Amino acid sequence: NIMFNEWGLNAEERQVALQVLTEVAIMSPDTIDTLDNVTVHEYLAQYNNLPRPVYEYFAYLAHAFNVGLVDLVPMSETVKAFQRLMNQPLGYPAGGYGRMVEDMAEVVKGNGGEVKTRARVERIIVEEGRVTGVLTRDAVFRAPIVVSNAGIQPTVLKLVGEQYFDRSYVSYVKDLLPSMGFTGCRYILSKPVLSCGLYQIWSEDAWWNLERFDRARTGEIPADVVITVTVPTNYDPETGPPGKQLLVLGTPCSPDPQDKMIRALWKKTDQQMAEIFPEIVPYVESREAYAGPAQVAAVSRDQVMPGQGGEAVGVGVTVGQCGRYKPSARSPLPGLFYVGFDAGSSAFMGTQQAVDSALKVAPMVYRYHLEKRLSTAR
Ligand SMILES: Cc1cc2nc3c(=O)[nH]c(=O)nc-3n(C[C@H](O)[C@H](O)[C@H](O)COP(=O)(O)OP(=O)(O)OC[C@H]3O[C@@H](n4cnc5c(N)ncnc54)[C@H](O)[C@@H]3O)c2cc1C
Repeated sequence: NIMFNEWGLNAEERQVALQVLTEVAIMSPDTIDTLDNVTVHEYLAQYNNLPRPVYEYFAYLAHAFNVGLVDLVPMSETVKAFQRLMNQPLGYPAGGYGRMVEDMAEVVKGNGGEVKTRARVERIIVEEGRVTGVLTRDAVFRAPIVVSNAGIQPTVLKLVGEQYFDRSYVSYVKDLLPSMGFTGCRYILSKPVLSCGLYQIWSEDAWWNLERFDRARTGEIPADVVITVTVPTNYDPETGPPGKQLLVLGTPCSPDPQDKMIRALWKKTDQQMAEIFPEIVPYVESREAYAGPAQVAAVSRDQVMPGQGGEAVGVGVTVGQCGRYKPSARSPLPGLFYVGFDAGSSAFMGTQQAVDSALKVAPMVYRYHLEKRLSTAR
């Protein structure tokens, strides 16, 4: 009712809104799977009398949570996002994301593994039609299995090289569409001001379809933008300086690190934050520089396709490329697997899909290892 009041729905519109939201909330996994090929826009168009704010809410989810555009994101992914948001509380890892990764590294080491940092892989070595290891600047690591987290496009097009794959597979990989980028920054407030852990901000002008994205690319920044604000210190005070409040906030943007819209969106986001949360303004002690597609392309995902490389979640967020159409984690090259958002996963947001992929790829790799043992024993 709070949302329906905000949206200004009359009694008849409330009935329709309730019907649509209920259908989505209780949709079975089998029905969700049938929507991999239906965009959010197409799905909602079947309702003649759908109140506009309901359309805009799902368009917002597709934009903010699936990091895509309402006319390209499949309804299946947005239903998963909606059900996840409604059914499970959101959280933040104690100690922050960096701490979580450090803990994982300890588990690897505790089980006899070795973690090498600052050791960028420059090539994945292929000999006689199968992978045989990786090459870094200083060393060669020989291995019959390579699991790449570098993104499917950088792995195929750069680290291995197109020449080792069928042309049709190379075309398939090149045709995978990027998600939107995300650009954000951190505010440090001199004292706790905001009470929630997460704020989601959108309006009728803020979500994007292809037309709005194109307009932003030509420099026409919309009146409002979608903003997600997380307050990590409200989950774990130790994620920020003692007694202060940390806000991590940002907005979706082009995945192209060179796109000029990104800088314009920083200004818009700061303005909108001050309008929506005037109570924080006197307490903003510092605001760090915005990060986004340029940093993603520099540290996490090599730019191998024009106009992308700074995608926030990865590739495969559009119809025909996610859900049951998500790229397989097993590459056509024997011994080469992909892990991470780009392949083998289907779940909620970026990190959940990456983890889901890892949980599915691990047994796949183990089975391959067993197969290889059997074949070498013959
Ligand atoms: C600003 C921003 C905010 C986000 N917020 C959220 C959020 O709130 N919730 C959420 O769920 N998701 C969020 N995401 C998305 C999420 O971070 C990604 O979807 C997720 O990290 C993808 O995981 P991955 O394992 O596929 O890739 P990554 O996390 O990018 O990991 C790839 C790793 O491979 C390494 N690598 C790449 N190339 C090489 C190479 N050649 N040699 C060696 N190592 C290499 C990289 O350094 C990196 O460590 C956000 C993304 C951005 C950019």
